Amino acid sequence: MKKGIAASKGYAIGKVVLKNEDEICITETKIENIEAEKKRLRRSVELSKEQILKIKQKTEDQIGKDKAEVFESHIMLLEDPEFIGAVEENMTINKINAEKSLKDIIERYVLIFESMNDEYMKERAADVKDVGKRILMNILGYASYQPNFEVLESNSVIVASELTPSDTACLDKEKVSAFLTDLGGRNSHSAIMARSLGIPAVVGLEDITSLVKDGDLVIVDGIKGEVIINPSDELIKVYEENKRNYLYDLKKLNKFIKKEAVTKDGIKIEILGNIGKPEEAEIILKNGGMGIGLFRTEFLYMDRDEMPSEEEQFESYRDVTVNMKGKPVIIRTLDIGGDKKLTYLPMIEESNPFLGYRAIRICLERKDIFKMQLRALLRASVFGNLKIMFPMIATLDEFLQGKYILEECMNELRLEGKAFNEKIEVGMMVEIPSAALMADEFAKYVDFFSIGTNDLIQYTLAADRMNSKVSYLYDCMNPAVLKLIEMVINAAHKNGKWCGMCGEMAGNEEAIPILLKLGLDEFSMSPTAILKAKQTIFDN
Ligand code: PEP
Ligand code: MG
Repeated sequence: MKKGIAASKGYAIGKVVLKNEDEICITETKIENIEAEKKRLRRSVELSKEQILKIKQKTEDQIGKDKAEVFESHIMLLEDPEFIGAVEENMTINKINAEKSLKDIIERYVLIFESMNDEYMKERAADVKDVGKRILMNILGYASYQPNFEVLESNSVIVASELTPSDTACLDKEKVSAFLTDLGGRNSHSAIMARSLGIPAVVGLEDITSLVKDGDLVIVDGIKGEVIINPSDELIKVYEENKRNYLYDLKKLNKFIKKEAVTKDGIKIEILGNIGKPEEAEIILKNGGMGIGLFRTEFLYMDRDEMPSEEEQFESYRDVTVNMKGKPVIIRTLDIGGDKKLTYLPMIEESNPFLGYRAIRICLERKDIFKMQLRALLRASVFGNLKIMFPMIATLDEFLQGKYILEECMNELRLEGKAFNEKIEVGMMVEIPSAALMADEFAKYVDFFSIGTNDLIQYTLAADRMNSKVSYLYDCMNPAVLKLIEMVINAAHKNGKWCGMCGEMAGNEEAIPILLKLGLDEFSMSPTAILKAKQTIFDN
């Protein structure tokens, strides 16, 4: 059995189809007529654009508009004057042909993306390779760049070193029962698309392409992230049964979309969703979520060259709030630092970034950044049920300082005659053990708590949440973690406040019954976990 990263849930039993990497052979030739060569390049870029627009349309029709957005970034690269300019400059200076010049620049861009610390940016290297390959194929006059998936038989399991987003968009759901890759992470665009297509996928398998050959039978377990090569008949029977049960359960969940989450003894539980981008709010509504329990605003700040302005932030917060039509929208202030970096806010290298200068610690020092966000949030608060939440609070003083700066912003807005909700709720995340231990004190000042178990677990057990070597310690069911959670919920209730949870634990089917017993009022989770969580609540 081979273990990788579970990227898309589900089971498949099928025959391996190895995707040939068809390395394109490029030769360097010296050229005299640079202008003619530039024309060749531009024609191929135009052709590539037409092809991508077609794939984008197909993806929009078959999967959805949001999933087609990846191709927007492909088009942006094709239209990027800096990128095309770099290829032309390389061509002019070195007097080389378009294909060699393009290959050089693609390799340079890929290196830059791959060397970034941010996982999301790292995975963008695949997009550059994808677009680059397409232009090269067009320069070379290959009929049309489509992965050769049309000849597939049904029940094929695609095995590749890496799948590009356009590869994934071309997969025929009727024939492809799963895909496996050597590279990639849970957040690569192909993994995201696989989840939307409902195709099971295991990525990051390291060497799966060398372990299997065409025609091998494999079992894919997209839930555990496991692959079994040439399994026995008994194992096949077990997994056929697993697959049947999984599909049956999945179908049954749809009946919960319109239902409220109520326990057997009649207690109504709030089930909300976590988002990183405003567009994701739609998925919460589609899955019957009752609002947004965590909007990780740092994603608005990432993936760009400059700080988003107050106006830009205001528009994003307003749009999300309006879309949720009065349902709660809890917006967390900037939680940058740790593994999330901003190119335009250089920070000193730290030996322990997760214990370092991050989140509220930065905001309290960089009041200019913090106030810009708080003003935008306050202005958006008149459009619905917007609440503000501070991350990574370790001491009461930090929370009070945050509130003080918020009040400064309120005063400014009053003077400017700008409207905001005077009664806006302000809460905090409890994700540092010191805050959990002192929850009784905090509860007098906050409007609500939201427990961030992703961090709380790592700080309680001193086990880095990203280090697989210590993952055996990173356990939400550890009694120390449960004890802290209980303390926080009790402290909130004793002081007449409510307590939610927005860490991954809130969507964990095994943890939900315990959290219900502990009296947790609100559960916020990734949108795709909502229906299963509703079902678990009905059963408890
Ligand atoms: C958490 O720590 O539980 C949390 C929700 O925040 P993040 O995962 O963004 O650190
Ligand atoms: Mg956190």
